[in-house]
Amino acid sequence: MRVIDKEKPVLVTGATGYVAGWIVKKLLNEGLTVHATVRDPHNTDKLKYLQNIAAQAPGTLKFFKADLLEAGSFDEAMKDCELVFHTASPFINKVKDPQRDLVDPALIGTKNVLDAVNRTASVQRVVLTSSSVAIIGDAIDCESFPNGLATEAYWNTTSSVTHQPYNYSKVVAERAAWEINKKQDRWDLVTINPSLVIGPGLNAFATSESFNIVRQIGDGSMKFGIPEFYIGVVDVRDVAEVHFKAGFTPQAKGRYITSAENTGLLPLANILKKKYGTAYPFPSRYLPKPLVWLLAPLAGFKRKMISRNVGHEWKVDNSKSIQELGVHYRPIEESITEMFQQLADNGIV
Ligand code: NAP
Repeated sequence: MRVIDKEKPVLVTGATGYVAGWIVKKLLNEGLTVHATVRDPHNTDKLKYLQNIAAQAPGTLKFFKADLLEAGSFDEAMKDCELVFHTASPFINKVKDPQRDLVDPALIGTKNVLDAVNRTASVQRVVLTSSSVAIIGDAIDCESFPNGLATEAYWNTTSSVTHQPYNYSKVVAERAAWEINKKQDRWDLVTINPSLVIGPGLNAFATSESFNIVRQIGDGSMKFGIPEFYIGVVDVRDVAEVHFKAGFTPQAKGRYITSAENTGLLPLANILKKKYGTAYPFPSRYLPKPLVWLLAPLAGFKRKMISRNVGHEWKVDNSKSIQELGVHYRPIEESITEMFQQLADNGIV
């Protein structure tokens, strides 16, 4: 059980990220001092929205330069912190070199951050932003779980650097974090394992893959049909709330699946269609799986990924987060609509 002193600064890595932005905002609104690491603290244009949030909140925001691939670069930012939120990790689907672009920053980055934690005597707790993909590699994996439902007890054992490399980057990083944590007893580790995060960004030009996925539902690229992908979704503001609760609830322990609803891409498109009608070219039917499989390489997807995901139900059990952290998940209708409206307002769809 760790009781975190709210007078002490709190570290957030990757503060410019979509998820991290809402965590920083929550901490500032609670009056905390946030040490925010960014790759380029001199890029004032990129950081302005966070500074504006800080200006209107009781808390204090300080930027520090740190790169996941640079050993020692988190030390200065971590000084005097009792709580560390490690969120920085690339979330992109299309990369040239999966080892260099995904696995190295996730894994080496996590090791570098936790090495700094081991060197920083003040740290009591680390909250790591992992992912539901550290539990489920492909939707078909759910068929091996009781009732087809994934819980925190399971691990993704099916991803690799060549198959679902983003998912692989998250599972190796989380496994490494637990290994490092086990070797000492000063600080405890809590992981947050969100499904696909949706909802408005604080910075409408964020690079998170979440924006690409939601954009493609309405930009016409799927107007003739959508692959039968099942996913879970959760609002970005709820993900931030769960991080906060995981940080400051002394009894918080282990992994927390963070997901509002088990759903799919077509049900999300149908929510938007109900709201916007024919104003956008939303898909209204599933594409036949053999066609998706055949055309996958043209869209930059591997056929193995299609075989193991399209048409297979993807389901997680979110009850631990509700029971232990008291989370009230927002209706997904609200999250997807507000995110899509933001993309529309910015001329992105
Ligand atoms: P995002 O907006 O792209 O944020 C990623 C952050 O990681 C950015 O701040 C980025 O910094 C930082 N980063 C990347 N490479 C770095 C490096 N070498 N050194 C330092 N910082 C680096 O993505 P996000 O969706 O908010 O994702 C944040 C976290 O949530 C990730 O751990 C992701 O795996 C996890 N997650 C996301 C989702 C989702 O659906 N969005 C779901 C589950 C888990 P720059 O601004 O400098 O590029």
